[in-house]
Amino acid sequence: MRKKIVAGNWKMNTTVQEGVSLAEAVAAKSAQTPENVGLIIATPFTHLACVAPVIKGSKVQLSAQNCADHTSGAYTGEVSVDMLKSVGCQWTILGHSERRQYYAETDEKLVVKTRLALEAGLGVILCVGENLEQREAGKHFDVVKEQIENVLFNFTAEDMKNIIVAYEPVWAIGTGKTATADQAEEIHACIRKVLAGKFGEQVAEDTTILYGGSCKPSNAHELFAQKDIDGGLIGGASLKADDFIAIAQAY
Ligand code: PEP
Repeated sequence: MRKKIVAGNWKMNTTVQEGVSLAEAVAAKSAQTPENVGLIIATPFTHLACVAPVIKGSKVQLSAQNCADHTSGAYTGEVSVDMLKSVGCQWTILGHSERRQYYAETDEKLVVKTRLALEAGLGVILCVGENLEQREAGKHFDVVKEQIENVLFNFTAEDMKNIIVAYEPVWAIGTGKTATADQAEEIHACIRKVLAGKFGEQVAEDTTILYGGSCKPSNAHELFAQKDIDGGLIGGASLKADDFIAIAQAY
């Protein structure tokens, strides 16, 4: 049975003090979410070491939003996978569309980062998704398939046990426009089929595939009711503990 996950991507929001309060509230309310739904919060790098002890003992797990593509050394401003591990991080998001768009994150770089993260014992939440132009040109299946092939086809079935895929149509991120449940489901089913072609049916069945893009308490239930949608990667709504928890309760 694949895991159901609701993950919050805080992006570049909150001071450390605000982040600790938010994490406290999420941890306190996490017991009100269904037992079979895992919770992850991806905080800014600066918050990780302070948030880790706050969520300890709750079901909430800790994620970074990125990691360096080198292990250590003269890479000013970067944060390595070992540094993430050393503060109690269990996951890292990789390939978020904002990083692809603003920080030249390529699929090639994502292969390197994914390998380093897995070797360090971090789980990876790999984001894929088409932009509006690609969707309007009817290229969304091809774009997502190519992203999956370019990155994940470099890994093994064993590696896939520690990888979550997040489908995030770029046109739905932070825009208030959500993909309809049908639009999301058809891409999720396609991702699962692509994974099955490479790794076999069982690995594809066991892989958690999250939907991200203006997911909120009011639309989470319909999205999560789809056969191939195993939860959400939540941006804006993860900054309010009540909304984040309500989304997890949509199961
Ligand atoms: C995200 O950036 O991962 C995201 C899904 O953002 P939002 O929920 O705000 O659209």
